[in-house]
Amino acid sequence: MQTDSYRHKGMRRTLVKQLRDKGIYDESVLAAIEAVPRHFFFEKAFLEQAYQDKAFPIGEGQTISQPYTVAFQTELLELKSTDKVLEIGTGSGYQCSVLLQITPNVYTIEYNRPLYEKAVKFFKTYGLHPKTFCGDGSEGLPQHAPFNKIIVTAGAPAVPKSLVRQLAVGGILVIPVGNEQSQKMLRITRVNENEFTKEEFSDFKFVPLLGKSGWEAEL
Ligand code: SAH
Repeated sequence: MQTDSYRHKGMRRTLVKQLRDKGIYDESVLAAIEAVPRHFFFEKAFLEQAYQDKAFPIGEGQTISQPYTVAFQTELLELKSTDKVLEIGTGSGYQCSVLLQITPNVYTIEYNRPLYEKAVKFFKTYGLHPKTFCGDGSEGLPQHAPFNKIIVTAGAPAVPKSLVRQLAVGGILVIPVGNEQSQKMLRITRVNENEFTKEEFSDFKFVPLLGKSGWEAEL
C-alpha cells in the first residue's frame, strides 16, 4: 500500500490544470482525477511518470490510459451518481477508480487473467468495490444488463451490436472505433427502444479490443 502525500496531491493539481487547459470542463470529472492517486498504479520508481499526461505500460503488453483520455471518455459519459456503469478493459483499474468517484455502481471486465488478478488485489487493498469480472467483455455483460453507461477502453474494429442492446433507454456508450493505428471516439446514445444517435469525436490510439466482437473475430 502506498501513501498519498501533499507532494502527490500537488502533482495531481498540476495535472488537473493541464487537463483543463486541454479542454476538459466537467467539474465532476476533474474532481475525480484530482481525487484518485494515479501513482498507486505505478511502481515507486515511476512517480514522475504517474503525473505526466501520458499512457504507460502496465505489463502483459497493455497500458494505463493517458489521463486526458480517461478524462475525455468519462466526460462523454455524462455520469450521474445513480448510473449503473459497465467498463470493458479493467487494465490497471485506474479508469474504474475514476468512475467510482462519481458512481458506486460500476461493473468492470478484463480479458487478461494476470491483469485481472492484479486489479482485484488493488481494489481490495484500497477499499474500492467495483463488481469485477474476468473474461471476454467485447459482447458486454448481458446477464447484468441494462446499463446506463458503457465505456470501452480498448480499440474496436466496429461497434458491437450486443453492447448497444445492453444500453438502458437514455443510456450512453463511449467506444473508440477504427483500425489498429488510430480510432475515432464514438458516443452512441439510446434515444428510445429502437433509436440511437451517433456522435464522432477526435482520434485516439488504444490497445486492441480482443475477443468475439473485437479483433480476434477479424483475424
Ligand atoms: N481502463 C484501463 C485501460 C486498459 S488498456 C486502465 O485504466 O488502466 C485496455 C485493456 O482492455 C487491457 O487491459 C486489455 O487486456 C483489455 N481488453 C482487451 N480486450 C478485451 C475484451 N474483449 N474484454 C475485456 N477486456 C479486454
